[in-house]
Amino acid sequence: MRTAVMVVMLTLLAPLTARAKPQARKPWLLFPLDVRRFDHVSSKFGLRRVQGRRKLHRGVDLAAPPGSWVVAAREGRVKDTGRARACGWYVTVQHDNGWRTVYCHLRFDPKRLGIATGMLVPALGVVGEVGSTGHSTGPHLHFSLLDDRGRPRDPLLALYTPAETLRVLKQLGMAQ
Ligand SMILES: [Zn+2]
Repeated sequence: MRTAVMVVMLTLLAPLTARAKPQARKPWLLFPLDVRRFDHVSSKFGLRRVQGRRKLHRGVDLAAPPGSWVVAAREGRVKDTGRARACGWYVTVQHDNGWRTVYCHLRFDPKRLGIATGMLVPALGVVGEVGSTGHSTGPHLHFSLLDDRGRPRDPLLALYTPAETLRVLKQLGMAQ
């Protein structure tokens, strides 16, 4: 039984760990989009070339059709919401370990969904809709993860995959 579970886990983890990264993947955040609408990772975390200059991409870009639900990756408290030049309409959620998740390029002001600073959001609670506000070339969610010292971390090392998230939902009776 234990071996069977291990095999399943390894099969699920293989695609993400295959690229031999020095840091281990330890998922603790649910996928921050409606998993049925998610299309693909359009840009990963890390250094990338923008007009010939190397720039740190401080999050991961998750492509999905406009209007797809953006959901909290874990329970937390809304730390900030508003509109910023690069991020567009955004929501920042602080979690109980002091880490924060940031959801950017939202379609409209999250206040329209009743999202306000200080409110508690449940895991997978809707915080916005996918849009393309701010510096964005097409509809996607830019998802950032900041540690307890405010340093950006690679979200793909912390996120459950859409398939894993769906399994959690099924276990909780929240999906079929
Ligand atoms: Zn991005």
